[in-house]
Amino acid sequence: MSTSQASGFKQLHVAVIGGGIGGLAAALSMRRAGHRVDIFERRGFDVEVGASISCAANGSVHLEDWGIDVKSMSPVALMKLTMRDWETGQIQGVYDLSDYEREWGRVYYMLHRQDMHKVLLDAATAEDGIGIPCQVHNNSPCDTVDLETNTVKFLNGTSIQADLIVGADGIRIGVKPDIKTSPQTCYRCNVLTEDIKRLGLVKHSYEPAIQFWGGSEGKNGRSKYYKIVMAPCSNGEVVSFYCFMPTELTNHREEGFTFKEAPVSDILQGRYSDLDPECLALLKNSRERMPWRLYVHQAYTHWINKRTCLLGDAAHPMMPHQSQGAVQAIEDAGALGIIFSAKYPEFTRDVEAGLRLYQAIRKPRATRVQEASARATENVGERIGFTSIQVEDESLRPSEGSLTVREMNEYNMHQHVAAEVAKIRKARDAPQEMAHL
Ligand SMILES: Cc1cc2nc3c(=O)[nH]c(=O)nc-3n(C[C@H](O)[C@H](O)[C@H](O)COP(=O)(O)OP(=O)(O)OC[C@H]3O[C@@H](n4cnc5c(N)ncnc54)[C@H](O)[C@@H]3O)c2cc1C
Repeated sequence: MSTSQASGFKQLHVAVIGGGIGGLAAALSMRRAGHRVDIFERRGFDVEVGASISCAANGSVHLEDWGIDVKSMSPVALMKLTMRDWETGQIQGVYDLSDYEREWGRVYYMLHRQDMHKVLLDAATAEDGIGIPCQVHNNSPCDTVDLETNTVKFLNGTSIQADLIVGADGIRIGVKPDIKTSPQTCYRCNVLTEDIKRLGLVKHSYEPAIQFWGGSEGKNGRSKYYKIVMAPCSNGEVVSFYCFMPTELTNHREEGFTFKEAPVSDILQGRYSDLDPECLALLKNSRERMPWRLYVHQAYTHWINKRTCLLGDAAHPMMPHQSQGAVQAIEDAGALGIIFSAKYPEFTRDVEAGLRLYQAIRKPRATRVQEASARATENVGERIGFTSIQVEDESLRPSEGSLTVREMNEYNMHQHVAAEVAKIRKARDAPQEMAHL
């Protein structure tokens, strides 16, 4: 009998720092794998505003593994990606998604962040369902992590020890981020479908599609950093906008989301005066306008240190241009749940080895998406989907080796982990087999 078969599964106590999509997904995944999980979130969940978040098939495959019915997240099933001219709204390219479900087994969903967050939170903490309900500790900002003793200290003076610590934000493990300000920044805002109907602004807004305006050098010297991404979410009741512009037009400095309403004039600056009038009218009737200051991060040197790992934006902060930020966080969570499952009990007894495998499985793939997201800042044609369509405009052509839908969706994480574990077991058992000869 090999060592791996002889060693039994050990239930771990897992501390997840950060209760965003990534943290909740990790908690649920580890609950399903049979572990005891505490989630520590620095604030309450009432600040959630959010807007649309894409959930491509490579994300929903894990949600389904954890027993989540994506329909409970009030999705919109996307049928196409449409590239439009900034000034006229004229269509420049369409990536048809109507075959997506047949080809990839799942719909390309557009979700509202709040709906997604709520369903994950409910599933992680529910009394019913496989595994021990996760415990949530709100208003628990993490201060430090002692990597030697696996102890998390909180700003309120308390501390806990765990077998495995997941940093889904708010912790440092010796990574020195290499960050530079992005030449492009963003405001997000929403328009209610009932307002759209009332105002008669229905020309573009009913499409179950992600629609893009701009994103390439335009007429009259308009910069490629002007871009709009519009998508319906919340069962089609909300139309969500990401309004990108050159960074010099914003006063916001702090990375990430600012939870303070911005006036519409903060968005309608510079070349927004040239914008397709239909789209402009929608923006003028928007609400929940908030800045999202963007920085470009190079891939981190490492995601793990002893029994602590990073996950989601904490591990691979990326520009939002591939619509894969949340999905990559879900993939990270999926990997943890597979590696630390009863199928591979050796890792529950050697957490450091399991985390080495986590990094080996996840870092190359997430880094590729992170780099492709940075490239798509410079050219909307680099976005997954658009990389496979023909557009007339030369400036929208993607580079060699750009990210494709096939690459994202053909991937099978269960098989990848199984193949890597087989190599690890073979290497480990080899000396023992030699000794028996
Ligand atoms: C409020 C909010 C709104 C967002 N809205 C959008 C959106 O509209 N569209 C979009 O594409 N993406 C949005 N995002 C980002 C998107 O959700 C993430 O890129 C993605 O889901 C990855 O999630 P994450 O859990 O890794 O990071 P995040 O979603 O950023 O979650 C990190 C969590 O950690 C918590 N945290 C931070 N520091 C500490 C600490 N010291 N101790 C304890 N907890 C801590 C934060 O409060 C947060 O809840 C939003 C993120 C947030 C937090």
